[in-house]
Amino acid sequence: ERGKISLLEEIIPQFAIYGELENLKPFGKGHINDTFLSTWNQAGARVRYTHQRINDHVFAKPDEVMDNILRVANHIAKKLSDQEIPDRSRRALTVILSRDGKPWVKDADGGWWRSYCFIENAHARELAESPEEAKLLGQSAGLFQKQLADLGGPRLFEAIPNFHNMETRYTRFHEALDKDEHKRAKTSEKETAFLLENEKRGGVLIRSMREGRIPERICHNDTKMNNILLDDAGGGSLCVIDLDTVMPGSSLFDWGDLVRTVTTRAEEDERDLSKVIFDTAYFRALLEGYLSEARDFLIPEELKLLVEAGRNITQIMGLRFLTDYLEGDHYYHIARPDHNLDRCRNQLALIHSMDNQWDEAERIVKELTIA
Ligand code: ATP
Ligand code: MG
Ligand code: MG
Repeated sequence: ERGKISLLEEIIPQFAIYGELENLKPFGKGHINDTFLSTWNQAGARVRYTHQRINDHVFAKPDEVMDNILRVANHIAKKLSDQEIPDRSRRALTVILSRDGKPWVKDADGGWWRSYCFIENAHARELAESPEEAKLLGQSAGLFQKQLADLGGPRLFEAIPNFHNMETRYTRFHEALDKDEHKRAKTSEKETAFLLENEKRGGVLIRSMREGRIPERICHNDTKMNNILLDDAGGGSLCVIDLDTVMPGSSLFDWGDLVRTVTTRAEEDERDLSKVIFDTAYFRALLEGYLSEARDFLIPEELKLLVEAGRNITQIMGLRFLTDYLEGDHYYHIARPDHNLDRCRNQLALIHSMDNQWDEAERIVKELTIA
């Protein structure tokens, strides 16, 4: 941390921030970027900003990521202003440009930095712990998609190409299986069999997009609880943050990932699979929240796939965990030798639980989507 903070100290004057810097310290619980908080004295007023060193192992082209973020943040801000929404500065991220007009500054080590206005009197929560919180999360994700449904201009950059492409993920899985470099195919035969049986079905979202049956939309791709800021005073959800992975995709990618992460109380690596249960009460609340914003723009083909999308994104994660296990654990951090296999088993258990409650889930969708 010390090293990064001094790199930041060197370049911080290049951001167009007025006043005197009073304090600079590490901040937050993000896993991807390094986040810092600064306090400035602006003619007697204390004003705070966040600064992040973009993880350039994960994001190969930080300038493209920042181009996306600037357009998305400005579009949301303009929409809030056109609609005369109160408290606007806390409902959209504000990107601080460099003094020469760029949305980033590079440090002496070649690192890329960005700055945002700090959103005051707000907090992030780590997990959705009640159906009410699930509803809030669904609503925030739905609103975010709605706000961006009419973003003009060229297509956004693909921050991580083929992120939710089941077909390319399967290609890589087959390669890993054929090579079996770490002699692990034997210990994962059951999981492999399930994933092979479900290969064709798993292509449904990517095929539907390619064939134009569901539209390409702007997708956040990391809609978890600690990426939405909640008002300290109890005013609910304020702002969706962490926009690195915003890119073209399907509305169903975000929706499916919400279903995967919010409808079960078990951690992603829980080994007691009897705890990995798809909870239809959370599913219902999540969907209620999501549809309260997204119902306006979703088309019938998307609505038809709402249950399938949860299964689909769970499958893609199961597939990625197993692929990483076969390849020797290069992508996901592991704390024990079979950690990635456990994660895969956990995701497949969640699919089984979904399958067991499929009719109930479809019934909930039908009930909540009736016009
Ligand atoms: P993740 O591990 O979720 O990918 P990350 O490393 O990409 O995280 P962020 O989610 O962007 O980092 O930021 C980390 C945390 O810092 C957030 O969860 C939030 O608590 C806080 N934070 C970031 N930006 C702001 C802001 N503009 N205003 C207030 N808090 C912020
Ligand atoms: Mg985050
Ligand atoms: Mg992030």
